[in-house]
Amino acid sequence: MSLPSQIPFVDLVAPHVEMEAELLDVTRTVLRSAGFIGGPMVADFEHDFAAYCDAEHAIAVNSGTDALRFALLAAGVTEGHLVLTVANTFIATTEAITQAGARPQFIEIDERTYNLDPRRLREFLERECVFDARVRRTIHRRTSRPVTAVIPVHLFGQCADMDPILELAERFNLTVIEDACQAHGAEYFSKAENRWRKAGSMGRLAAFSFYPGKNLGACGEGGAVTTSDDEMARRVRMLRDHGQAKKYYHDIEGYNGRLDALQAGFLAAKLRRLDGWNQARREHAARYKQLLAPLAPALTLPHVPNNSRPVFHLFVVRVADREGLQQHLAGAGIGTGIHYPIPLHLQKAYVALGYRKGDLPITERAAAEIVSLPMFPQMTEAQLRHVAGAVADFLAPRKAVEAEPLAAAAARG
Ligand SMILES: *Cc1c(COP(=O)(O)O)cnc(C)c1O
Repeated sequence: MSLPSQIPFVDLVAPHVEMEAELLDVTRTVLRSAGFIGGPMVADFEHDFAAYCDAEHAIAVNSGTDALRFALLAAGVTEGHLVLTVANTFIATTEAITQAGARPQFIEIDERTYNLDPRRLREFLERECVFDARVRRTIHRRTSRPVTAVIPVHLFGQCADMDPILELAERFNLTVIEDACQAHGAEYFSKAENRWRKAGSMGRLAAFSFYPGKNLGACGEGGAVTTSDDEMARRVRMLRDHGQAKKYYHDIEGYNGRLDALQAGFLAAKLRRLDGWNQARREHAARYKQLLAPLAPALTLPHVPNNSRPVFHLFVVRVADREGLQQHLAGAGIGTGIHYPIPLHLQKAYVALGYRKGDLPITERAAAEIVSLPMFPQMTEAQLRHVAGAVADFLAPRKAVEAEPLAAAAARG
């Protein structure tokens, strides 16, 4: 079999070539109506996306960052509050917190899933905060700041462990805002409710990004807030449109955070393919696991708890010599990424928060060892084998996966 010479980290051309006629139809419809902002295409997409997420409402906005910020503002997060989240996320999560006037407080992650560790969340709330039952408010002892919200990030396409997070949020009266920007279609089995729940339906509000590289991506910027709370939905709608419920009647100051009709039309067309794309990602992940399993323990594969159905926005493995592996793969024509190399508490932008190296050891160790392998729905068997073979060449040259009969790898996987 001849091997593909270049495997990109993600291929954004293929899906758009595949859908070109449909996307051009959307463009023509928008041009002929000249309804560029808002309108029926946006309303239709909002309807479809809310249904997809098992939420009552989806409010389309300009980006995932706007979605997070509007969700926080709608929930009443404001000046001086503490908002709990993780440090191994894209900076948009904490930009939204700061821009709402609040301060991020980082909680340690679970070593295996890389998501917020509910036990650490409980420790923080029980040991470092007091709950004032009269006003149902949680106060951080050392800073006297009210703790009002928690943002679990469904990182890499896998839901955080939501049952205990929701239970703690209830007990300490915190608003839960899911950062579902990487998790369109991901599911979590809730023991509390004895059913599978969709990302975007579990928190009071949830934020999605439609940045082009996301599982559901626009041909430009886009995002959405989902919620089943009518009042939250009403507030987010106002915030995205200059605080107006009716044209030129401004109840509050808001933002210019609307979604284009063009993007909504593209997204509606892509949403119809999302389950198929997510299924392809899951199959690629399963194949990667079969091919790479013999490399344990030098290579750590993604851990999927049995209460989780992830959508593999990224396929993230862990190795001691991450830079070495990346260089080796680059030499074999294989693109990789790191999500993310510097945890937020150690970023220059957040020096003023006062964190130091060593404050979040699990997060820091993971950041030094993770690497994201190519993952996109259109990947081929040959590409998956080429990547796995190149990883094996680096970690265990004599055990090269490429040379091994498929059945043997499958039997061990
Ligand atoms: C992409 C992303 C965002 C921000 O989304 P934008 O649409 O780029 O503003 C926020 N959080 C996470 C975890 C993301 O991956």
